[in-house]
Amino acid sequence: MTDTLRQLVQEIEPLLIKYRRDFHKYPEAGWTEFRTAAKVTEKLLDLGYEVKFGANAVSQKDMLGVPSEDELKIHMERAIKQGAKPEIVKKMEGGLTGIIAELDCGEGPTVALRFDIDANDISEAKDEKHRPYQDGFSSENPGVMHACGHDGHVAMGLGMAQIITKIKDKLKGKVRLIFQPGEEGSRGASAMVAAGAVDGVDFILGAHIGFQAKKNGQLICSTGKFLATNKLDVTFTGIPAHAAAAPEEGRNALLAASCAALNMHAISRHSGGASRITVGMLNAGQGRNVIPPNALMKMETRGETTDINDYMYNSVQDIIAGAAKMYGVEFQTKIVGATKSGESSPEMKTKVKNIAQEMEVFTEIIDYVSFGATEDFSHFMTVVQENGGIGTYVMVGSQLAAGHHDFYFDFDESCLAPGVELMLKTVVDLIG
Ligand SMILES: [Zn+2]
Repeated sequence: MTDTLRQLVQEIEPLLIKYRRDFHKYPEAGWTEFRTAAKVTEKLLDLGYEVKFGANAVSQKDMLGVPSEDELKIHMERAIKQGAKPEIVKKMEGGLTGIIAELDCGEGPTVALRFDIDANDISEAKDEKHRPYQDGFSSENPGVMHACGHDGHVAMGLGMAQIITKIKDKLKGKVRLIFQPGEEGSRGASAMVAAGAVDGVDFILGAHIGFQAKKNGQLICSTGKFLATNKLDVTFTGIPAHAAAAPEEGRNALLAASCAALNMHAISRHSGGASRITVGMLNAGQGRNVIPPNALMKMETRGETTDINDYMYNSVQDIIAGAAKMYGVEFQTKIVGATKSGESSPEMKTKVKNIAQEMEVFTEIIDYVSFGATEDFSHFMTVVQENGGIGTYVMVGSQLAAGHHDFYFDFDESCLAPGVELMLKTVVDLIG
């Protein structure tokens, strides 16, 4: 059986690379993945999966950090021009680009695999040093690039979808494939969880190419210390006034925002573990001699546990309200991203490790790494664990041309097949 599985994966390796390059060429950022999602949906329907997409896969009211309607419209049109089926794109109107596909292989547990599909807001390098450019598959979409490897994740997801149908008779249970939009900025998981993406899931597996596995042949079997986060846009609204003739009539939004920013960075540390805070952007004011009536702040909190993040977030809210009161300005806050902290389940790690040890391609197998960053997968995994299931997040080693989110980012495509083989063998181990 193991040899057959390996062979099945080897047969589709060229296809995995083809998929990866296609998605790389047409990258789409969070909630605008219309082409990507339409292509995936089309394929999954062809393969005979029960496919939920559009409003059935994403709870609209729980979507975070959604681009404007005008922007979404432009991206829908672009997707259709770039080969997406219009009737599928139409059902994703509003940015509903998540997909939940299930193959029922008989009575038994449900195994979920999650693949993130979004690209980054960054312009891809276009010079001879960059292989995707050299080989003619670099981004056709200005200002957007697959600089994190999610193009490879989508390719792996489609590869899995295809192979699972071939071994359906040997499985007893359900295989659920979750294609998640808006991972960057922690925007997509909560809306998919709210739509039931992980309802009834007993096992969940997530994977990332690279990250802390930066060499070919490395495999990290589990990841922990995913930081919980809240991402917030804050607007302060004051009153403009002549800076010399009547400053007392103004209400200074710039000072309120600055005061808030400084004090946020002075929140006391938490004895329970690590926390982070960043005011990453602050725009305020209109002109040199006008009391600034407006300010926009983009900031985020993080915490080693959801409780620590809540502590940071609650403190931030007090500071915003306090600063606004001091300067007599109004304020509004909007959560544009949020996710829970997380820890992989040791039992699931052991299963993955045992499988990896049987695969020659993995020459360096690492039990556990501490993530120290945020990944929307932790939201799915935590909910599965709260409902009695188990899960893990693995990192599949690949030599990287540059770090994640760099415009020279590229990974070694030879990691795609081992990634799929590991997932496939895990599914077979769990419900075979
Ligand atoms: Zn990523």
